[in-house]
Amino acid sequence: MASSNDNKSTEGGFQDGNSDPNDEETNELCPGFKDVDAFVKYGLGAVLSATKASAGLPQAGDDYDFYRSFPGFQEFCESQGDKLLHLMSQIMQHHGCRSHMRDRNKLTGLEERFDLVVDSNDTILERAGILLDEADGVNRSQQPVMPAGFQPPKIVVSSWNRKGSGSGSRPETFRLLHAKNVARPQLKFKEKVDNSNTPFIPKIFIKPNATKPLPSYFTNKQIRKERPEDLDVPAALADFIHQQRTQEHVEDMFAHPYQYELDHFTTPENLLSKPEVQMYKPMAETKCSFIDTLEDLVALNEKLCKLSEFAVDLEHHSYRSFLGLTCLMQISTREEDFIIDTLELRSEMYILNEAFTDPATVKVFHGADSDIEWLQKDFGLYVVNLFDTHQASRALNLARHSLDHLLKHFCNVDSDKRYQLADWRIRPLPDEMVQYARTDTHYLLYIYDSMRAQLLEFHHGQPGLLQSVWNKSKDISLKKYLKPIFTEESYLELQRKQKKSFNTQQLTAFRLLFAWRDKLARQEDESTGYVLPTHMMSKISEELPKEPQGIIACCNPVPPLVRQQVNELHLLVQQAREMPLLKAEIAAQKNKGLTPIKKSDVKLFGPHDTSRVHESDLPHFSSDDLPVKQGILFSEDDHKMDVDIQKIKVLTAPAKITLFEELETKSDQTSLSVAHMKASRIIESFENPFRMYLPPSDVHINKNAKFDPSSKIFEISKRWKLQSIEQQHKELEAKRKAKEEAKEQAKKVSEERNKAKQSYQESLQNVATVRQQAADSLKGGGKKRERVASEVGESTPKPSKKLMKSADKPQKTEPPSQESFTPFDYSQSDLSVFAGTKSKSNTQFDPNRQAPDFKKKKGSKGQKSNFGAGNRSMSYMAGKSERGFRHNWPKR
Ligand code: AMP
Ligand code: MN
Ligand code: ZN
Repeated sequence: MASSNDNKSTEGGFQDGNSDPNDEETNELCPGFKDVDAFVKYGLGAVLSATKASAGLPQAGDDYDFYRSFPGFQEFCESQGDKLLHLMSQIMQHHGCRSHMRDRNKLTGLEERFDLVVDSNDTILERAGILLDEADGVNRSQQPVMPAGFQPPKIVVSSWNRKGSGSGSRPETFRLLHAKNVARPQLKFKEKVDNSNTPFIPKIFIKPNATKPLPSYFTNKQIRKERPEDLDVPAALADFIHQQRTQEHVEDMFAHPYQYELDHFTTPENLLSKPEVQMYKPMAETKCSFIDTLEDLVALNEKLCKLSEFAVDLEHHSYRSFLGLTCLMQISTREEDFIIDTLELRSEMYILNEAFTDPATVKVFHGADSDIEWLQKDFGLYVVNLFDTHQASRALNLARHSLDHLLKHFCNVDSDKRYQLADWRIRPLPDEMVQYARTDTHYLLYIYDSMRAQLLEFHHGQPGLLQSVWNKSKDISLKKYLKPIFTEESYLELQRKQKKSFNTQQLTAFRLLFAWRDKLARQEDESTGYVLPTHMMSKISEELPKEPQGIIACCNPVPPLVRQQVNELHLLVQQAREMPLLKAEIAAQKNKGLTPIKKSDVKLFGPHDTSRVHESDLPHFSSDDLPVKQGILFSEDDHKMDVDIQKIKVLTAPAKITLFEELETKSDQTSLSVAHMKASRIIESFENPFRMYLPPSDVHINKNAKFDPSSKIFEISKRWKLQSIEQQHKELEAKRKAKEEAKEQAKKVSEERNKAKQSYQESLQNVATVRQQAADSLKGGGKKRERVASEVGESTPKPSKKLMKSADKPQKTEPPSQESFTPFDYSQSDLSVFAGTKSKSNTQFDPNRQAPDFKKKKGSKGQKSNFGAGNRSMSYMAGKSERGFRHNWPKR
């Protein structure tokens, strides 16, 4: 829309030099400036001295009035002021902004002029943003950069992205390949991506080169797949039953599948002695194969198994996917290069485990930390016998440890990492990108030889230093991929990084937006940065716009999902505005006091950060750390809370879900009906399933979270109780009253409590008897069936698929006799093993908010309604996994 304008508007500027052949020759950016660096240096210098000078002027109310009494000073100020205003006007006019800066009409007061400047700044910044986008390949004029068929990617030529002075014969321009219209590779994946907020479970199901066999959890599809879905119990209950069944496997589920082999791996003697340094073949004379069929992959694997070493690298994309996608694998042998299309062969890549875990074959990587995790995350691949040239570079104490530097140092090859951040999803891969990718592994075996030789030389033939590199490399191969887990405290760390002190309203907005962004990113399989970049999130929180338009104004460019859901976002901001306003210091104090920060938590967020987390940075988790608190969902240590929050009581309240809150009345059980007893037994047998995902108990949970439709507590409580928000409010209100009365009238306490309890247990009964409902409906009672149907958001009562299914299997849906009903004793379950992080106790958790089906999503606009309604049919996550790679958390 604005792009043609923008081009024009920059025409007079320094970028004009690009189109001028003379300038190209003299290589001048604009008269007097060799390149952008020179220009920027000069510009910054000028700005700096101007700022200094203006800061040096006498201050208003200070010496200023005195100085002003001298006509000379007055005159000088006026003329300089005019000059400045003129300059500003010019700049603003140049950008087509209103610019009445100089008309000194008293009516257009200072304030209005200040607004003018602010507006213009916004406009100019937007321009800059658009131009940067354009340079980045985001074509705003709707022209597809990469349409479905092949079309050469747009070449962006401009002086600022030209590589420094004389870099030899390399082409002087390069393409920034960020293609906007790349088809989403995820759509073709046989196994859908699992973005659920649950710990990562290895994908491996066959274990070549094993000395310790793969645990049955991974080899036996049944265990993983089998879910008591057909029981037609509430989804959450089904999940717990499933969890119970997988209980014995949990230790295996989170272990490194090759831990044993790696622990028992010792570097062979010959790899610790002086190597024969073997020169690389020139790239031009080396065969390069593009592997995108299973057949070729199998052949490659066979080839690799026969070798004593090969080099590996990966290219990864993280912007348009929540967990990131490994797009390419490069492998170089002494003779050949291979480029594997890992998007195409994603589900088949596991066969390479045969070569990758063969202890007799060295796998050479450069900086394998991320690669090791990506291999696990996307393919279930592991590496036994790794040599990491990055570690070798450190041991050798080289000047720099980048691959660029090693290539220059050992091979005298000039390379640059210009394509490192290209969009590696692009297919077919442009030639330059293939060449770039090859370079990453082609020379690596030679470097490996040379480095080993040097490491030995360094230590006069003693293998100590070399051995330390092998050891460090082994440590890297022992790394486990950890999925980013959302906790209620994750936002705080990120907020702190913004270096802005927020008041309670702003902080609430930040928290709500953070949760919204995480949820949507998981659902849509986008990075959080794509959904809503942090700086925009921070700006919205800071400004708390009153209108949806104000939210849009905080974002430039406006992320598509923000535009689409601006009304939801607006509701969140409104909700934040309703918070009692406390000053930033208090808010900060509160944060300090109540939420100890864990470095590693935040590192888990952001696809790249994940990979940089070192195992040693992560908390050591042991199930002993998790004291089990029975019977209270989201139990908080009340007393502790009370002490902690004394100072700021207005703001905080121990978060509890009323459903599980009333254990203390257990002694009254004798007077309960069978249904009540059944309900209480279920309650008793439950422990909070989400405990391990929750922040430590010293984190406060805002009371509002319970009423906050975007909060986890709300969702969970809503699903369990099958109650509307209003009902929930009412119930809480009733309970609050009951408690007040209890204080006044001690005698009535138990009576009142029983009442409250009864009401919640009645609601609980509705949950527990879905099974019964189905049975009732079989007997011809259509009423309950309607209820279930309406739960899925349908207005007309139709038997849902699920109910039809259960009708086909009457034996499974039979209501258990009231007397014989014994719920699973979940309190016996060690749920702690599901914890991927060190959360010690509970607060809130988002149980698997499933994303819309891709097919459904195509229409896209309608999806909005999916979010609020708790649509059951959302399932592109683990649910459809072929290998039963599925999780145990409530499906909605
Ligand atoms: P490399 O090992 O240098 O080939 O990089 C592998 C992948 O890591 C690239 O495809 C990028 O996805 C990612 N990557 C490398 N360097 C960076 C960086 N500086 N920032 C973000 N991502 C990076
Ligand atoms: Mn790499
Ligand atoms: Zn690479």
